[in-house]
Amino acid sequence: MTTESLPVLPAQSDKDDTKAGNYFVSNYPPFSFWSPDHVNDVLSAIAREPKPNTDLGMYTHIPFCRKRCHFCYFKVYTDKNAAEIQRYMDAVLTELDTYKDQPFIGGRKPKYIYFGGGTPSYLSHKQLKYLTDGMKERLPWDEMEEVAFEGEPGTLNELKLQALKDLGVTRLSFGVEHFDENILEVNNRAHGQKEIYKAYEAARKVGFDQINVDLIAGMVNETDDTWHDAVRRTIELDPECVTIYQMEIPYNTTIYARMKEDGSITAPVADWHTKRDWVDYAFGELEKVDYTVTSAYTAVKDPDNTRFVYRDALWRGADMLSLGVSSFGIVDGTHYQNEANFEQYCTRVEAGEMAIFRAMTMTDEEKLVREFILQLKLGRLETQYFADKFGVNVIDRFGTILKAYEREGMLSLDNGTIQLSRHGLLQVDRLLHGFFLPQHRTDRIV
Ligand code: SF4
Repeated sequence: MTTESLPVLPAQSDKDDTKAGNYFVSNYPPFSFWSPDHVNDVLSAIAREPKPNTDLGMYTHIPFCRKRCHFCYFKVYTDKNAAEIQRYMDAVLTELDTYKDQPFIGGRKPKYIYFGGGTPSYLSHKQLKYLTDGMKERLPWDEMEEVAFEGEPGTLNELKLQALKDLGVTRLSFGVEHFDENILEVNNRAHGQKEIYKAYEAARKVGFDQINVDLIAGMVNETDDTWHDAVRRTIELDPECVTIYQMEIPYNTTIYARMKEDGSITAPVADWHTKRDWVDYAFGELEKVDYTVTSAYTAVKDPDNTRFVYRDALWRGADMLSLGVSSFGIVDGTHYQNEANFEQYCTRVEAGEMAIFRAMTMTDEEKLVREFILQLKLGRLETQYFADKFGVNVIDRFGTILKAYEREGMLSLDNGTIQLSRHGLLQVDRLLHGFFLPQHRTDRIV
């Protein structure tokens, strides 16, 4: 059965409460379909030469945080000491040793690297230098187009920011999430408002090519007033890029654990309709001061000169070598994820193994669906790209669903372009499930 023969998703009502489950589509096929049975596929993929014109990128996971936010669904550690962090950095470098001479590298140098977490800025400036010097020795960074780095404001001071600049960070992402002291506290964020301003000012002084401010619409205790204030303060900071996520409550969050204890079905956050309205408001305010909305989550000041290489390369089928506990990578169409437990990850790497926990090799059809849905998040998609790369006319392939969404005012089809309306863009992750192959549909989405 193809996606074509399935009905589109039922329309949501206006007041669609936030329930537990995953909303955000970060990859395809969904992680729940990756399996330990396919780990050998990764070993085969790294033993092959790369396909021509395939960029190589890297992802490095830093799993440490000062506190665990109540909405966090990542595996993070808040209790690791300096010796354990040193052990972790050495494991990451040893892991890179096992990959760097494999045939899949094929003489390529990485074009982008993303430091995610957790909180990469949890590391001290000395630790950061140790880690990145070691990485550069193993796989040179001289063709790097972007070094993206996530920072939590309370961990960023001028010394560390200068170290980040010196090691080559080009895109610094500030995990602000909100400015309101009460909201930050109730949601268990580690930083307060003062730390945001202090760190931001220091980052501007040091000077980065691109600063991104991350916000979340709909944290616990959010109101129209707090949200409007957060948007106003963000605009005042004048960052090159603003990224806004809508609050979701996956099952492995503290908020969900509390919902279970209380027997609640509805999460203690705003409904989806309200969260979409808040993002719509933010986009509108940003557009008033000449930002351009470039995806369902981002607005940038200067679209011609503000790239996000990591996202665009990954969404167009680049390879990504991933390092660190629970990190996700992709090599020649095979997805993989490392061990998600700190001890297991370190022990396996120290024993000279690849610490891969589960994997999945995509069929050509799955690769097509993956790129199609990820690129739809940009709000505009050129069908010629898919004709050239996959030999598929996506308007025919997904015709029934596209036309249904067009009737609902979510998108328009025009002369080889699929263009999402603002209404569609604000709920794109929900719409994407309509393009999933039947075997990948699950009720663990909201
Ligand atoms: S800072 Fe990010 S990774 Fe760390 S606990 Fe909060 S949400 Fe999770």
